[in-house]
Amino acid sequence: MPLYKSQPIKIYNSLSGEKENFTPINEGNIGMYVCGPTVYSNVHLGNVRTFMSFDVIYRYFLHLGYKVRYIRNITDVGHIVDDVDDGEDKIAKKAKLEQLEPMEIVQRYTVDFHNVLKAYNFLPPSIEPTATGHIIEQIEIVKAIIDKGIGYESNGSVYFDVVKFNETNNYGKLSGRNIEDMLANTRDTDGQSDKRNHQDFALWKKAEAEHIMRWPSPWSDGFPGWHLECTAMSTKYLGNHFDIHGGGMDLKFPHHECEIAQNEACTGQEPVNYWMHANMLTLNGKKMSKSTGNNILPSEIYSGGSPFLTKAFSASVARFFMLQAHYRSNLDFTNDAILAAEKGFYRLIDAVSSLNNLDNFYFGTESTFDLKGWKENCYNAMNDDFNTPILIAHLFSGVNLINLLKDKSAFLTKEDFTDFSSTIKAFVFDVLGLEDEKSSTNNNDKLEGVVEMLIQMRKQARDNKDFAMSDQIRDQLLALGIQLKDGKEGTTFSI
Ligand SMILES: [Zn+2]
Repeated sequence: MPLYKSQPIKIYNSLSGEKENFTPINEGNIGMYVCGPTVYSNVHLGNVRTFMSFDVIYRYFLHLGYKVRYIRNITDVGHIVDDVDDGEDKIAKKAKLEQLEPMEIVQRYTVDFHNVLKAYNFLPPSIEPTATGHIIEQIEIVKAIIDKGIGYESNGSVYFDVVKFNETNNYGKLSGRNIEDMLANTRDTDGQSDKRNHQDFALWKKAEAEHIMRWPSPWSDGFPGWHLECTAMSTKYLGNHFDIHGGGMDLKFPHHECEIAQNEACTGQEPVNYWMHANMLTLNGKKMSKSTGNNILPSEIYSGGSPFLTKAFSASVARFFMLQAHYRSNLDFTNDAILAAEKGFYRLIDAVSSLNNLDNFYFGTESTFDLKGWKENCYNAMNDDFNTPILIAHLFSGVNLINLLKDKSAFLTKEDFTDFSSTIKAFVFDVLGLEDEKSSTNNNDKLEGVVEMLIQMRKQARDNKDFAMSDQIRDQLLALGIQLKDGKEGTTFSI
């Protein structure tokens, strides 16, 4: 029986403002969409926290045995800077500044994003679609919204009429805003804008003559509005009605509100059952911002190259630090706080790693520890809206147990020990995604040993004039990114 059948989860749904029992649309299967980065600059540590929150949620679902289709997009066009005004494409703007092709910007920062995720031990999503790869789907949605009488064309651009939509639907239900208040608090468009109402948002923007990123459409050569891409990509891969949509708290309005409106205008149904929003990371009590310099790049954590840090920390320590707070709480990053987290991290990792050496332990004929109760506590923490700080507190009860077992002050039967050991490792490594760097150093040693062995086998093959075999070893290693170099001193390799 899969584990999820015995572990009922509650999720805080931003749409209802309440914790709700989680029931997927198709039993045992979950569709989850998370808004990815706009790749026009390096992601900052706050972005890493948002994506980490959903990485842990994804990991926990997998641990429970769910089959998850997890979609996280790459925004590689649009993301209009100020949707209320005429707007400007962030990627095109950056390309102009750096005198690069927009796709060079996209490539550079997509690679940076992936490197950061790898360093922080994120699981890759099932699909990572790009906005530019889904222009046709976006145009189809614009057509459908126009057909329903809620989208209108104006000077080659297409806008979503929020007032018209609100006559039959509720624009503002996710963010708790009221359309009348919004309209009352904004100036009239003064006839300067192509829009009917100030709050209307762009579905399609006509490109100015110098705009490089442009596609043909029935209305103009132009580019899609930012909100549209997520509607197109989420419904393409998850259907018109799916389980979970997540993102940073700052995306609730207007981005997610507009997504709901687009979906409802098209299909007449609510697109998402559970809306989840991850909270912000501040630095020394202030919002992280590149322009004020109050900012740490994710790579500066492990390179130590930040004026806000007294030393370098491993990415796993930063991961542990962030997971000590619940994903819906604000978290403040300070040098002292991560120093404290580092101590806790090594106490946890060292204790869990010591479980691999059975010589440390003695087994009892009876267990003196309530293993069943402890396991329930761990699962209950995660089942209660993914409460990682409570889970971590219970994992430290496990650390205390490990120390008592070593001292012979507590006992587990062999069977309970195996159960305890696999449970705590599953939570630490599989669910929280923490890494024992010492064991990854060991793995590097092992890898080098294996490559040396293959070099020896290749040498034997050449000595036997079996050149097909020696070439095969060389080529297959190269395909794995391991290059052999033959020299006077023998063969060396680089990874
Ligand atoms: Zn989005």
